[in-house]
Parts: sequence; C-alpha cells; structure tokens
Amino acid sequence: MTVHTETAAPGSARTPGIPVIDDGALVSTNPVTGAEVGRFPVADEAATRAAVVRAREAARWWRELGFDGRRDRLLKWRAVLANRLPELAAIMHKEGGKPTADAVVEAVAAVDHIAWAARNAKRVLRSRRVPGSLLLLEFSGRLEYQPFGVIGVIGPWNYPILTPMGSLAYALAAGNAVVFKPSEYTPALAAWYVERFAEIVPEQPVLQIIFGMGETGAHLTRAGVDKIAFTGSPATGRKIMAACAETLTPVLMECGGKDAMIVDTDADLDAAADACVWGAMTNAGQTCVGIERAYVAAPVYDAFLDRVVRKAGKLRVGVEPDAELGPITMPGQVDVIRRHISDALERGGRAVLGGLDAVRPPYVHPTVLVDVPEDSIAVTDETFGPTLTVAKVATADEGVDLANRSSYGLGGSVFGKARALALARRMRSGMVSINGSLSFAGLPALPFGGVGDSGFGRIHGADGLREFTRPKAIAKRRMRSLVPSTTFERQPKHVKLIIRVTRLIHGR
Ligand code: NAD
Repeated sequence: MTVHTETAAPGSARTPGIPVIDDGALVSTNPVTGAEVGRFPVADEAATRAAVVRAREAARWWRELGFDGRRDRLLKWRAVLANRLPELAAIMHKEGGKPTADAVVEAVAAVDHIAWAARNAKRVLRSRRVPGSLLLLEFSGRLEYQPFGVIGVIGPWNYPILTPMGSLAYALAAGNAVVFKPSEYTPALAAWYVERFAEIVPEQPVLQIIFGMGETGAHLTRAGVDKIAFTGSPATGRKIMAACAETLTPVLMECGGKDAMIVDTDADLDAAADACVWGAMTNAGQTCVGIERAYVAAPVYDAFLDRVVRKAGKLRVGVEPDAELGPITMPGQVDVIRRHISDALERGGRAVLGGLDAVRPPYVHPTVLVDVPEDSIAVTDETFGPTLTVAKVATADEGVDLANRSSYGLGGSVFGKARALALARRMRSGMVSINGSLSFAGLPALPFGGVGDSGFGRIHGADGLREFTRPKAIAKRRMRSLVPSTTFERQPKHVKLIIRVTRLIHGR
C-alpha cells in the first residue's frame, strides 16, 4: 500500500491532534502544530473483508514457511527497524508528540520483542510428545500449538509500536497472518513499520494494515478473522467483545490500568522516587502501566514525597524533540485530566505540585496530589496524564489493600527489601516490578496482561506466543490394547483388572 506523508503549509493546519476523514482519507496531524503528518485510505466494510480474504491465503503460505523460515524473516524485520531507529522515532515524535528519547526507548523494546518471539516460537510451540495414561497405555499423546489463521489486531496510540508489537510479533511468529487496524491517531508510524515488513516478506500480504476510525475496527471484528487482539480502553473492549460474541470469535483484551506503587519503610527512597516519577510522568502519563497512585508507609512518607516533588518539578515540558514531557496526544483527554484534578481538590485533596494551573492544553505539567479521598475519580479512574496521587498508609500491607480496591489490575510496583516479594505477590495485578517501575514490559520472556477491567489474555513471552495458537491434541495408537477399556469388546475380567490396577495406583 502506498502511503504519502506530507506537512501542511503554515496556515492550513487542522485542529491539532484530532484525526479527521477528508475525501475518503484518514488524516493524522501533529497534536501541537496541527500539521498534517499523513493521509491514508479509509477501509470500509468491503475493503476490510477483502483484506481478511487475502490474509487467509497469505496465512497458508506463511505457515508453510515453518518456524525457521518465519524466524529468518522476523529477524530481518527487527534488524531493519533497529538500523532505522532515528527515522522511526522522528515519525513517532511528529505524529504523537512523543519526546524522541521516549520514542527510541519504546522502539527498542518493540525490536526486542520481535527478536524474542522469532527466536523462541519453535521451542515454545513445536510439536511434542506428552505422557500417556494408565487406562490407555496403548496410546501416546502429541501436543501441537497450531496458528489460528488470521488475527485481527486493533491498537491504541499511546505506545504505537510497542503495544501493537506485543500482538503482531507473537501472532506472526506463531504462524498467523495479521490484519492490523492501528489507532486513528498514529496511522503514519504504523504504516511505516508495516511497509518495512512488506519489503522483507514481499511474496504474500502476511501483515496488512487497514486505516480508519473506530468504525473500521468494528468492521474488522465482523470480517471473519479467527481471533481479535485488542489493546485500548475497557469501554471499547466491551463493544468488541459484544461484536465477537455473535460469532464466538475469541478475543484478547489489553485494556487500561490504574497502577499503584507501594513504598515500604526499608525502601531506597531516592530510587523509589526516581522510578515513581518516571513511571508516572513518562509519555506525559499516557501509559497503560503508568504509576497513577503511590501508597507510602508513614515513616518514610514525608521523605519520599519531598523527593518526588523535587524531581517531578524539574521536568521539561514542550514540543521540542528533547523535552521530557510532550503534549497530551488526544485533545479530549485534557478534559478528563482536568476533571480528575478538580475532583481531588474539591474533595479535600491538595496539589503539592501542579494542580489545575498545570493544565495548559495541549500540555499538562507534572501534578502531585495528596490527601485525596480514596473514592475520588482521581484515585478510582484511569487519568492518563502526568498526575500522581500520593497517600500515607500505616503499613505497606495497608497500601496493598488500598491498591487492590481498584477495578483495574494491570501492573504495579513495590519498593522495599525484606517484604518486597511478598507484597508483590499480594498485589491484584497481572505484573509487578520490584524496585523498578514498568520494568516487566521490557522483559520479553514475561507475559504481559491484566485482571479485572484491565482485561485478560497475555501478550509477550511463551504465554504470548500460545495466545495466538490453538492447542491441538493428538492421541496416537502405538500398539494393540492389552486391557481393552474403551470398547464394547471388553470383558468382565478386564473391568476387574482395571479396578485392581486403579486401586494400586490411585487408592493409597
Ligand atoms: P480506544 O479504546 O479509544 O481505541 C483503541 C482502538 O480501538 C483504536 O484503534 C480505535 O479506533 C479502535 N476502536 C474504537 N471503537 C471501536 C469499535 N467499536 N470496534 C473496534 N475498534 C474500535 O483506546 P485509545 O484511546 O486508543 O488507547 C488508550 C487506552 O488504551 C487506555 O485505556 C490505555 O490504558 C489502554 N492501553 C492498554 C495497554 C495494555 O497493554 N493493557 C497498552 C496501551 C494502552
């Protein structure tokens, strides 16, 4: 698919950041300047279905390549992306406003995931023999993980390469073809890396991209794919599940979060504050696994808060590629952030950094809120901005209890020594970092996903590979039955023998 990227002349800028459909094309724009970044043909229902039909043929070819063939192609893709990182980061900055350093770190993590999925698919998914059973000694078992066929991937804008890659790389390595609907906010970046894939796999449309708003995503859910891998908000996730329920199409749901950091009395407070500020503020807080709440044991509360406020207060906000916080990518999100800060303040909370004045569209400056009631929306709902609530708790255990009250359960973080692992285990979440924040996302062998409103299913790691396969169970006869059990030919003496052997083995 040919894609053209252009920049609008001064004066012709659109409403910054809001994607529009213009003459059948999706137009993406820079969230600060409004300059056009790219225009892409919108896929209607027929075009979406046609893409899935093409993908089905491609899936057969891709599967036939085998693990080794796919590994080679995927490793070539990851090498091209690794070699062209500055180009990739520049598009990400231009389209989403993300500071270049953050864009590079994100892209490196994505590249790492491609490599891991490519190198480990054979080990994790290969056909293997499994133990037989007493009653069916004459059979041996074989387990295979077969690709679904065609996976529909629907992605968000906030980590426009890392997040979709958790599905794309793992689905492809497992032997599926993919039809990918990127967020309408970041189509240019997605188009760029999909084109790089097509250069390495020119034979068949193994990875296709379709463009459009939510409607195009909705077409994809009804276009006959074998599974939908969705990353986005819980509200959209529910709509997708409802659509997929009509055809019993399986879904993978990677939704939002309200991650908490627990700081225990024996934590290294400098390291904790550093990780907290980074976890909360990186990507201007627009991170599904961003730290939005901190629960700090009373004896270290003041010292921790002081460090957090000092560090967060120094962050540089702006449109420059080397800023530390960029703009809020989705203009509408600014209102959500403002509402959360207002609610916290109206209910007795205090802003020890930032506050309502920090909301200066398209930017929100770092904001740290304290004494916020636990039922304020600033504590219960996903804010998706560079804001953090810090609460004093009697013990780290109380902090975990409060953290666990959230309907979300994506990631989390624990800072401490003696009890850190025990606290991490108690957190109701799919992932936790100990003495770090967001670290689990960069370890490709660890599965990524949540519980509750954060969704279900896993990307990354061996579980992420299996997520894009159907287990196939094969029982193969290897000899004639010594003690016939599953046949009407069995005799009373056989049943007696079975009872005796079962007692011997299981009856103790
Ligand atoms: P969103 O739900 O608004 O959109 C996500 C995608 O769904 C977009 O491509 C959109 O076009 C598409 N879509 C919208 N309506 C649809 C419909 N009816 N049917 C099919 N597709 C439809 O989310 P967003 O604003 O792009 O992303 C932010 C959200 O994503 C946050 O909640 C964030 O926490 C979450 N997120 C989660 C993870 C994770 O791995 N768990 C990672 C990144 C972001």
